[in-house]
Amino acid sequence: MRLILLGAPGAGKGTVAKLLTAMDGSVQISTGDILRAAVKAGTELGKQAEAAMKAGELVSDDLIMGIMKERLQEADCKNGYLLDGFPRTIPQAEALKVLLADISDKLDGAVNLNVPRDVILDRLTTRRTCTDCGAIYNVKSNPPKVEGKCDKCGGPVVQRDDETEEAISNRLDVFNKQTAPLVGFYEKEGLLLDINATSSDAVVEAIKAHLAK
Ligand code: AMP
Repeated sequence: MRLILLGAPGAGKGTVAKLLTAMDGSVQISTGDILRAAVKAGTELGKQAEAAMKAGELVSDDLIMGIMKERLQEADCKNGYLLDGFPRTIPQAEALKVLLADISDKLDGAVNLNVPRDVILDRLTTRRTCTDCGAIYNVKSNPPKVEGKCDKCGGPVVQRDDETEEAISNRLDVFNKQTAPLVGFYEKEGLLLDINATSSDAVVEAIKAHLAK
């Protein structure tokens, strides 16, 4: 399957992507994960992205399109992909349309995960992430067995720099201004699937039903 996962930070895009990739061998492509790895490794890309990320702002469309042009042509994309956190602006969506036509790929849909703002705020302030493998935990509902230590790889489990209350509030404003208009964009393209996303399992079922049509 080839899907775009749209939705505010904390809507569950990463969780849903992981459940879907386990179904059919498609890959999750998270621009946020790619950028965080670049920042951690201290690469040129990481240096260019770091300040915007810390503040909860978007990094430039050119930088993102440079990453995605290469990534979508890697061999593991042949079985399909779930785009998590990309596109995030109308110019990125337009550039993606051109890129997909160039490489003769066709999307199966753009899934909009709708979650109420209070649920999002609660999820993001309690979310913790392993800085080594990216595994996601929640201090209330799914803490690591040993505090601060990843169950999967033993790496440090911390609150992301951009998950302080101030950065979260900025990320939600940025989402409403720059990313929410993508819902209308994909509706016009005839690709939109709008889902109430309070439960990740229900989202997966709705996507499966959509793909079976
Ligand atoms: P995420 O993990 O998807 O919430 O992304 C974390 C941060 O990475 C965002 O707040 C942005 O600063 C940056 N980022 C990730 N994806 C994009 C994108 N498609 N366009 C611009 N910035 C992005």
